[in-house]
Amino acid sequence: MTEINQLVQEVMAKLTAKSAGCGIFSGMDEAIEACSRAQKEYVKLTLSDRKRITGAIREAAVKNAEILSQMAVEETKMGNVPDKITKHHLVAEKTPGIEDLNAEALTGDSGLTLLELSPFGVIGAITPTTNPTVTLFCNSIGMLAAGNGVVFSPHPTAKNVSLKTIALINEAIRAAGAPANLITCVENPSLDATNVMISHPKVNMLVATGGPAVVKVVLSSGKKAIGAGAGNPPAVVDESANIEKAALDIIKGCSFDNNLPCIAEKEVLVVEQVADYLVYCMKGSGLAHFVEDAQTVERLVALLLEGRNPNKKFVGRSAQVIMNEIGIKIDDKIKVIAMETPFEHPFVQNELMMPVLPIVRVKDFEDAKEKAVKVEHGFRHTAIMHSRNIEHLSALAKAIQTTIFVKNAPSYAGIGVGGEGHTTFTIAGPTGEGLTSARNFARRRRCVLVDGFNIK
Ligand code: NAD
Repeated sequence: MTEINQLVQEVMAKLTAKSAGCGIFSGMDEAIEACSRAQKEYVKLTLSDRKRITGAIREAAVKNAEILSQMAVEETKMGNVPDKITKHHLVAEKTPGIEDLNAEALTGDSGLTLLELSPFGVIGAITPTTNPTVTLFCNSIGMLAAGNGVVFSPHPTAKNVSLKTIALINEAIRAAGAPANLITCVENPSLDATNVMISHPKVNMLVATGGPAVVKVVLSSGKKAIGAGAGNPPAVVDESANIEKAALDIIKGCSFDNNLPCIAEKEVLVVEQVADYLVYCMKGSGLAHFVEDAQTVERLVALLLEGRNPNKKFVGRSAQVIMNEIGIKIDDKIKVIAMETPFEHPFVQNELMMPVLPIVRVKDFEDAKEKAVKVEHGFRHTAIMHSRNIEHLSALAKAIQTTIFVKNAPSYAGIGVGGEGHTTFTIAGPTGEGLTSARNFARRRRCVLVDGFNIK
């Protein structure tokens, strides 16, 4: 074991010992009851209290960025530490807080009506293994800003780092004046525990961040639910694009956290006219390893796919680990494994979440548009386009109907890295909230004052 691994193990052990009483319970019923009691106390606090408390979550995200990122990579074997650290900083800086809860007012002859955003109560939030810590921080900031308590159901394969994050958040918010157990979880997350949470009468709202199965489960629950599901984002390049920039942007977006983000470029559709030059620029960057022979591509298919599903062993692993597995050593600088494939290729059609970048040549923009819509599979998640033709950009955005549409930048511009707008790690395509924030975790209520305060 390397020294760094040993250090992480030691810190994990210490932190685990400290976590007793920090929102972690043996049973789901207990976790929900404790959260429900805490939320009733929490709503008595002021908005400034909420601001201070969510501020403490932001601080905890930054303060523990390094150790939690190391723990996440160590436990899940997915992603890379520097990019996970970046995500911790992003979540702290760009997740909206109480300022997101805008009230609306209507005034007229009959007086004043206020439309306010009130808490749901207890939210049951299910989080993914691909982004275990940052989803917890992001959901906690938004959900607490809106006045809720949260019971989390993290992915069992990210159990230790998720419990640790929850304990750290609880510790931080208690120090900032929140009641104990405002955020809770069970000590052994499991599908059974999640199912108890989903059907528990004291859980008022459900938020699922994960693949299609869990989104379907929460949407069938009979409760208010937000589903943030899978994506398969195409990056389209047309003949008008700045090809040198497109080549680099695509590699940067595709390789971020080893391609784990649901928004990351999963395949390229490039018009024939500029395809050779795009490939040339990617090769010239020294960041892409091109697999040029069909046999090696086939070996990668056999390694990386189990039927149509990604082989979990390689999800979020680096290009080096993947190529090494088939006996090919590549330079440490390489970020993505690229290859040209037909459109029907399984690497194009399936969400791999690996730094593997299939490139498909298309006839022209119309062909690219049609194929991009097909390969996105109606997820309404993310698409990227490199073009200087405003008509092409508009036409694809209209046809593909994705929640995020990034123009001339890496995909992560869509969540606020180098692009305008707030961040979130729960992007709700299926249920339509889009890039979720505090207002999506609140109920819209009408408060009517008759015959008063209309001073028009
Ligand atoms: P996953 O679907 O395997 O697990 C996600 C969560 O759902 C976990 O907590 C898991 O325990 C739970 N879960 C899974 N099946 C369930 C079921 N039948 N009943 C109850 N709970 C269930 O996904 P993952 O591997 O952890 O994450 C990767 C997937 O999530 C990818 O498809 C990715 O695109 C998607 N994702 C989407 C977003 C978004 O914002 N839209 C963000 C991150 C990840």
